[in-house]
Amino acid sequence: MSQTGSYSFPIDLFSNDERKLLQECIHCGLCLPTCPTYVANGMEMDSPRGRLYFMNAALGGRIGLTDSLIKHTDLCLICRACESACPSGVRFGQLIEKTRDLVSPHRKQTRINKWISNTILRRVILSHRTLSVLAGIIWLYQRAGIQWLTINTLIKYLFPKKIRALQNTLPQIPLKRFGKNKTQIFPATGEKQGRVSLFTGCVMDHIFPNVHASTIRILNWNGFDVVIPKEQTCCGAIHSHSGDLEMTKQLALKNISAFNDNTFDAIIVNAAGCSAQLKDYHHIFPNDPEVERFIKKVRDVTEFLSEIDFRIPESPLNQKVVYDEPCHLIHAQGITKEPKKLIDNLPGITLLPLMESDHCCGNAGIYTVTQTEMSIEILDRKVNFIKQSGADLIITANPGCQIQLDWGIRRQNLSMNVLHIVELIDSMYQNEPNYPTTINL
Ligand code: SF4
Ligand code: SF4
Repeated sequence: MSQTGSYSFPIDLFSNDERKLLQECIHCGLCLPTCPTYVANGMEMDSPRGRLYFMNAALGGRIGLTDSLIKHTDLCLICRACESACPSGVRFGQLIEKTRDLVSPHRKQTRINKWISNTILRRVILSHRTLSVLAGIIWLYQRAGIQWLTINTLIKYLFPKKIRALQNTLPQIPLKRFGKNKTQIFPATGEKQGRVSLFTGCVMDHIFPNVHASTIRILNWNGFDVVIPKEQTCCGAIHSHSGDLEMTKQLALKNISAFNDNTFDAIIVNAAGCSAQLKDYHHIFPNDPEVERFIKKVRDVTEFLSEIDFRIPESPLNQKVVYDEPCHLIHAQGITKEPKKLIDNLPGITLLPLMESDHCCGNAGIYTVTQTEMSIEILDRKVNFIKQSGADLIITANPGCQIQLDWGIRRQNLSMNVLHIVELIDSMYQNEPNYPTTINL
C-alpha cells in the first residue's frame, strides 16, 4: 500500500469508548448486504467490515495513513445502514466521522476539495446573506434558460466535473428565501395545544422555503404556536461528515444556546439529516445536562405529528405513492413506522411497497460532488426500483433525498414528483375552511 506522506494514524485521539467500539465487530458480515457501496462494487474494503478492519489496523499501528485507507473510508456514505443491521451494536457513524477528522489535516487536498471545505462549508452555507446572493444568481441562470450551454456544449469543459455534477442535481431555486433576520412567531389556529420552535437550518431556507411554510401551517392547524429563533445556525451535519469536528462543535454550541427557552414543548425539525445531527450533540459534549435537555426536545416532524392528536385531512387525494426512507431517519434515529403510518392514514393515498426503501439514495450531503460516480450508480438503482413500484408520487422526509430523487427521475425522463411528507399533508389540508393557505415569510 502506498503511504500518504510519513504520517502514522493518531491513535491517541480515539477515546477509550471508541476503541472499545471498534473491538466489538465480530466479523459476522450481516451488515454487508445493507451497505450501498458494497452492493454496488462487491469489494470487502468498501463494506462496513472492511472499513472497520482498516480502522483497527491503523489503531493497532499495523498501517499508517495509507491512500487506500483514505479512499475506502471516503467512499462511505455515512448512511449508517450497517448500524441497523449490526448485532454487536457497533456505532459505525461515530467511528468513521472520528477517522475522517483525524485523517483530514493529512490528506492530499485537490483545489476543489479545499474550496469545498474552506469556502463552501465554513463560509457560504453559514451566511444567509451569501446564500441569498448565490440563490439569486442561480435563479437568474435557470430562468435565462442557458443551462443547456453548460450541459450539452463544449462550454461545459470550462467547468470542473464536480461543479457540472452539482449543477445537474440542482432543483429550480426559488427567488425568495424563507425567514427573516429576526425571531418570528406564527400563532396556532383554533384551540391551542402547545408552543414549539422550528429548526430551519441553512440551505433549506433558500432551496425549500415551501417545506418550512408547509410545516408551520400544519403545526398551526394542529394547535401549535411556532417560534423560529433568529440565532440558530446550520446543524453541522455536513461538517461532521467531512471530518471538521471543530466547526461542528461551534455550530452545536450556537444552536443549543438559540433554543434555550423553557416555553418550547419541542424543537421541530423537518430535515432528517438535521434532526439526527441535533440528537447526536451528546457525542460532542458527553454528560452535559444542558445538552441532554436540548436533545430531549428535538423531534423530527414525522415523529412529532405521530405523537399528537393529528387532524386527518378531510378531502381524499387519490394517489399511489412510495415512501423512500431517509437514512438519517430510519438508521440514525430508528424512525420508520411513524412516517409510514402518517402516509397510510391519509384518505385516498395508497402506500405501495418499495424495494430497498431503507437503502441510501446516494445524496449523503456533498457526496454527489465528492463521489459522483458512486452516487449516480446508487441513485440509478434506487430509481429503477421506484419505476417498478407503479407509484405516481415519491414521498420522503429529507431535503437532500428530495434533491437527489428529483435528479434521478430527471436522469431517466420519468414524469413523477417528489414531495416532502409535509408538502403532501399541507396540500391535502388546503380545501378545508379557515386553513392558513399563505404564510408571511
Ligand atoms: S455507513 Fe453506509 S456506506 Fe458506510 S459502511 Fe455503513 S452501510 Fe456502508
Ligand atoms: S454486522 Fe456488525 S459485527 Fe457484523 S461484520 Fe458488520 S459491523 Fe461487524
